[in-house]
Amino acid sequence: MPGLRPVAAATETPGMRAVPPYRTDPLRTGRRTAPGGRPDVEGSPSRVESLNIFNCSGLWGYIGAMTASQPPTIAEELRGAGLRVTAARVALLETVRNGDHLGVEALTSGVRDRIGQVSLQAVYEGLHALTTAGLVRRIEPPGSPALFEGRVGDNHHHIVCRSCGVVADVDCAVGEAPCLTASDDHGFAIDEAEIIYWGVCLTCSTAS
Ligand SMILES: [Zn+2]
Ligand SMILES: [Zn+2]
Ligand SMILES: [Zn+2]
Repeated sequence: MPGLRPVAAATETPGMRAVPPYRTDPLRTGRRTAPGGRPDVEGSPSRVESLNIFNCSGLWGYIGAMTASQPPTIAEELRGAGLRVTAARVALLETVRNGDHLGVEALTSGVRDRIGQVSLQAVYEGLHALTTAGLVRRIEPPGSPALFEGRVGDNHHHIVCRSCGVVADVDCAVGEAPCLTASDDHGFAIDEAEIIYWGVCLTCSTAS
């Protein structure tokens, strides 16, 4: 069933989520803030997967013990999610996080800026691994190619311009992810509600 992500199924990673995570990670607080000023939240990966893009894990030795005051490196985050650490994946996750709902093409050029040549296939595989591990979120508004973002785990929504296609984040309207509380869940363990607001952005509506 496309669009459905398993929850609480895999148990490879300690601390994995049993329910959709709304844990605020102090390590990330302040790095990226939602429009409403709420700190970013991040969930633990629910599944781990190891796709071997190309193995250069020797480059990324384990960087000592983390302390509470040191945010994990990207390599540590990948390893913590059960993913093989490759230069392409590290560059990809950085590019996703520095971007704003980027598509595959923009991500590929971002990765190439960082590490040189990388195949489109490696980017696709890396995105699949990062998305499956819960480090990256994929959205696909109707009529738009898939877009990727680093803000995960909070079930935030999106607003899309009908004219230029620009995408922005929109927090849940009330409280914390109320949209996950369905009026009838049909017995599902719901982990995502996909809500897209459509309209015309300020730039488009004031141009003419
Ligand atoms: Zn627009
Ligand atoms: Zn978003
Ligand atoms: Zn909502």
